[in-house]
Amino acid sequence: MSDNVGMTLKTKPPGIYLTIDDSPSPHTDELVDFLSTHNIPAIFFVRGSEMENEESFAKIVRAIKHGFVIANHSYAHERTSQIGFKSQTSQIAKTQTIIDHAYDKAGLPKPPRYFRFPHLDRGCGTAWPIDFNTVPPDDRDFVQTLFWNGVRLETKAVPTVAEQGLKRDIQNWLKDNGFQKFSPPDLTHRWWVESELSEAIDILITYSTSDWMLTPRHLGRWPYKNINDLYEKIKTDPFLTSAQSSHIVLMHDDREESLTITKKLITYFINQNFEFLKVTGATE
Ligand SMILES: [Zn+2]
Repeated sequence: MSDNVGMTLKTKPPGIYLTIDDSPSPHTDELVDFLSTHNIPAIFFVRGSEMENEESFAKIVRAIKHGFVIANHSYAHERTSQIGFKSQTSQIAKTQTIIDHAYDKAGLPKPPRYFRFPHLDRGCGTAWPIDFNTVPPDDRDFVQTLFWNGVRLETKAVPTVAEQGLKRDIQNWLKDNGFQKFSPPDLTHRWWVESELSEAIDILITYSTSDWMLTPRHLGRWPYKNINDLYEKIKTDPFLTSAQSSHIVLMHDDREESLTITKKLITYFINQNFEFLKVTGATE
């Protein structure tokens, strides 16, 4: 744990659970091959709407056969606070049916059901992925920056009572529908363990690579403007490089010419000696 003062002079960087959002894309096969070559496990969070045609569905079946875990990222990638309980839960259910079908097609057992909200909007808008008041005060600024740097914020309005209820209702729905929290024992950040995050059924993140900021559509409009900025972000993150906890790292499938960026970032992690950890697979 983090208080083993003096045990080692120089700690090895912590392990990474790699999560890839917004699959499949035209380049999923290439990404799967790249990760396989480097022996890097990952969870792919898929959009149901992108798996409706045979060709893209086949890419996900192929990823399953290569040992990757496929998880749910809703159907149409819409914001929960905008579309509400009924629409979002039916989208999640619809996508899960497609994912289950892909596992059947691959002829492999289904892993635990994992889910990540599009835009990290868990019901209270993108600015409030979690109730920051549940985070230990010393870590609050860090956690707020972690989430606010990684999403497109249109408003920072404090969640309404109705939104808080929506968040709760969807958590309960996820639990009732067999979704499981992702809480590896080596994920020991105080701000994670002591906040509402440790109880969340959906999967959040502990580090965002902000890879999407370098896609043509976003380039130059956000704080990180080139690959060196993203390396620097990794190097200077106070928790990523020094904490002894593992991490849930967010990257994206190549929806917008981002595969080169993805490859560079992963290579950088490898060169910095980060270890990519195996995600819980087919059986618990
Ligand atoms: Zn997404």
